[in-house]
Amino acid sequence: AAKVAGRGRAVVFDPAMRTAAVERRRLEQELTGALARDEFRLVYQPVVDLADDRVVGFEALLRWRSPELGAVPPDVFVPVAEDLGLIGDIGAWVLREACRTAAAWRREHGVAADATMAVNVSAVQLASPQLLEDVRAALAASGLPASALVLEVTETALVDDPERAAASLTALRALGVQLALDDFGTGYSSLGYLQEFTVDVLKIDRSFVATIPADGELPPIVRGLIDLARALDLEVVAEGVETPAQRARLQAGRCARAQGYLFAAPLEATDAELLLVGQRPGAAVEQSR
Ligand code: C2E
Ligand code: MG
Ligand code: MG
Ligand code: MG
Repeated sequence: AAKVAGRGRAVVFDPAMRTAAVERRRLEQELTGALARDEFRLVYQPVVDLADDRVVGFEALLRWRSPELGAVPPDVFVPVAEDLGLIGDIGAWVLREACRTAAAWRREHGVAADATMAVNVSAVQLASPQLLEDVRAALAASGLPASALVLEVTETALVDDPERAAASLTALRALGVQLALDDFGTGYSSLGYLQEFTVDVLKIDRSFVATIPADGELPPIVRGLIDLARALDLEVVAEGVETPAQRARLQAGRCARAQGYLFAAPLEATDAELLLVGQRPGAAVEQSR
């Protein structure tokens, strides 16, 4: 793999590295103006309650379509945005947009739209005091109740500077928002972190869900993660559920909530809203008339 030093300069020049450096430079150039050019949008993936298939929440996922580069996935551009110092502004936009959308659904549909909205927060955002202000501003501008907002952080974001992260999470919780530990089990933290950082939700990474066999028991690690969450009185969400067998095993293992292509891919806002409204009591009756 090509090694690229800071500022995107290649360390040693061989053709492959040169190509990687040129591509990175191009990505940086396009990303720099993307927010101002309105090239971002959010899609929303439902979180369902396995007991009754009800949509109990959504996760906002960032999408970037560059006129020059096409669709670039967040796994690729978020780290670049962090390096360039752009993630603060982009993250603030994500918070505003997600809160605005969730609040609009609530205004439009009342209790039927009583679902949480989760927003991913990167390590760089968590390290900045600006995050607290951005969350506060997004809630105030939208009128969304703080308890309806879930901030998803990864273990990795906590490891760099645990004291600062703890202070940051405490301040966020004081606002009334919920916190979720994303991709749980894949980071480099220890279980001690669960004691140090108060969170509300534990999201089991899809790499673990993928190990659930078509027939037979839950793998011990998945079993353990669910039991751990229950013992700590945390909400547990299984990520990346793709098959009915995975769903059945998780449900039998008393995992309450899940997310994944089996239920729905990330949806455009209008489709997410339709899904939410479709479950309104009486909606099916109205439709059949
Ligand atoms: P994540 O927060 O763990 O999000 C879950 C990812 O899994 C999403 O990829 C989602 O589309 C994908 N996914 C959902 N269900 C399934 C499934 O059944 N099978 C498989 N194979 N994949 C599934 P996506 O949207 O490409 O996002 C990737 C990562 O980028 C996210 O991981 C998150 O860490 C980051 N990200 C996305 N949006 C934002 C954002 O607004 N801000 C920040 N800081 N990071 C974001
Ligand atoms: Mg997430
Ligand atoms: Mg995840
Ligand atoms: Mg992830």
